Amino acid sequence: VPEGHTLHRLALDLTDAFGGRTVSVTSPQGRFAASATSLDQSRMIEATAHGKHLFCEFDGERFLHVHLGLIGKFQLGPPEPPWGEVRVRIATPDVAADLRGPQLCAVATRSEINATMAELGPDPLRPDADPELAWRRIRRASRPIAALLMDQTILSGVGNVYRAEVLFRHRIDPYRAGKDITPAEWHAIWTDLVALMREGVRNNRIDTVRPEHTPEAMGRPPRVDDHGGEVYVYRRATLPCHLCGGEIRTADLAARNLFWCPTCQRP
Ligand SMILES: [Zn+2]
Repeated sequence: VPEGHTLHRLALDLTDAFGGRTVSVTSPQGRFAASATSLDQSRMIEATAHGKHLFCEFDGERFLHVHLGLIGKFQLGPPEPPWGEVRVRIATPDVAADLRGPQLCAVATRSEINATMAELGPDPLRPDADPELAWRRIRRASRPIAALLMDQTILSGVGNVYRAEVLFRHRIDPYRAGKDITPAEWHAIWTDLVALMREGVRNNRIDTVRPEHTPEAMGRPPRVDDHGGEVYVYRRATLPCHLCGGEIRTADLAARNLFWCPTCQRP
């Protein structure tokens, strides 16, 4: 599942390509044909994201609401003939964006979009985000902090990589209950997520190691992983911790693999 930075980056790229322009909207696969026709030849205003939801706004307060889910992809490129199962293509004569395999793809009104956003926790990448809304729920919760960070109704946009990495960076045991997190720790987690995820949007990948822990600074080989990016614990199970040398562990938590260092993140 893509993390929030991927959606915000996609929103920026779609706005760059189509913002302010009249676009063609089609459904080469056919499953979205009627809805696509209703948006075809309108002007796209901009694309925005909230957590893992993407909203493309068109003239007349009409939106294309997309959730990529597990396997969905929305790819920009030259307007060549579409291949595979393209649910929606947004295009101008110069550029096309093809959506394949989304979990959700629907035309929506502003009030429907607002209702969707009201069910989502604050997104560290949105300038209007209020971290207090997440804190009010976390401070009363008996669930582990690692599960709370992934709950999109509490906090949106954080996925499996950022939750593991931000907890490592603050030396917090992932199994600690939300109610045992201090206000200072929550403030540090939020501030760090804002900075890390913004960098994720900029670089289009997740890097979480501090300057003193990069491969160059530590004289260690760079990470080899199809997710790219330098991390402390994510998908590093059984490898030595960059800080203490102990073994990184993994376990199932909130339906996803959790990674942590039991020495650096002591209970
Ligand atoms: Zn460690």
